[in-house]
Amino acid sequence: MARAENRLPHNADGDFFVDDRCIDCDTCRSLAPAVFGRAADFEQSFVKHQPDSEDQRQHALMALVACPTAAIGTLSKIDVRPAIAAFPTRIADEVYYCGFASEASFGAASYLIRRPEGNVLVDSPRASKPLLERLRALGGVRTMFLTHRDDVADHAVFRRELGCERILHRADISASTADVERPLDGDQDISLADDLVAIPVPGHTPGSMALLFDRKFLFSGDHLWWSPGRGRLHASRCVNWFSWEGQVRSLRRLLDHRFSWVLPGHGRRFAAASPEVMHEELARLLAALES
Ligand code: SF4
Repeated sequence: MARAENRLPHNADGDFFVDDRCIDCDTCRSLAPAVFGRAADFEQSFVKHQPDSEDQRQHALMALVACPTAAIGTLSKIDVRPAIAAFPTRIADEVYYCGFASEASFGAASYLIRRPEGNVLVDSPRASKPLLERLRALGGVRTMFLTHRDDVADHAVFRRELGCERILHRADISASTADVERPLDGDQDISLADDLVAIPVPGHTPGSMALLFDRKFLFSGDHLWWSPGRGRLHASRCVNWFSWEGQVRSLRRLLDHRFSWVLPGHGRRFAAASPEVMHEELARLLAALES
């Protein structure tokens, strides 16, 4: 629970507040941009504007539920059950954002793909009971695709509770993931099903992988994301833990694939008007990185 006595001084007067446990993960700003802002001097989020519509209030409450450190609170007693029930929340087609971010993965986004052949969870949300119940109600999870070693969080709980097969590149396996059911090897694309391709993208970590679903949605982990400040796709040396040259090479290989969505762990999602526009955006990023 967020503590009012620890609320940050930047918060706008009113019911909602952010306290000093904020880790600047961007989850709340992404979910409720009209309500939450970033205090550059504190490098933390704060309530820049109290919700003044039902929609803003619902999204602020969803941010409260999704926050990985329980840093968001309200002065009054509020029923958060509708916000809990809103997750997983639909993004497009049968792709959903799970909310319930985990501090263990620094608040990384995780996603659910609903498909007749079996649902896929991309990276690990916080294994909260309400989310597990919602996932069961939506058909369970057959596969848990882990894009890289940083965003595995509660993978063992999802395996235990939902029986999903976990997929992770062998180069990113550590003691905590030594028992994943399906380690992948090599640097070539691996077809997991007609509509699912694992694309090794070494760079951020040695075993980073992207997942391409339906030749439309690219789940990019921490390999690639949209930067609102730059107004383009982005990848950063600052969060590169293995090989920057490798990451740029892996980004170039994505030009061989058709997709129109980028759904990252950190950073913002991006939907291009078409695969051709996405291709141009990727080329623009590569030109910027290689200039
Ligand atoms: S979701 Fe929580 S931890 Fe993340 S930026 Fe917002 S207040 Fe901070």
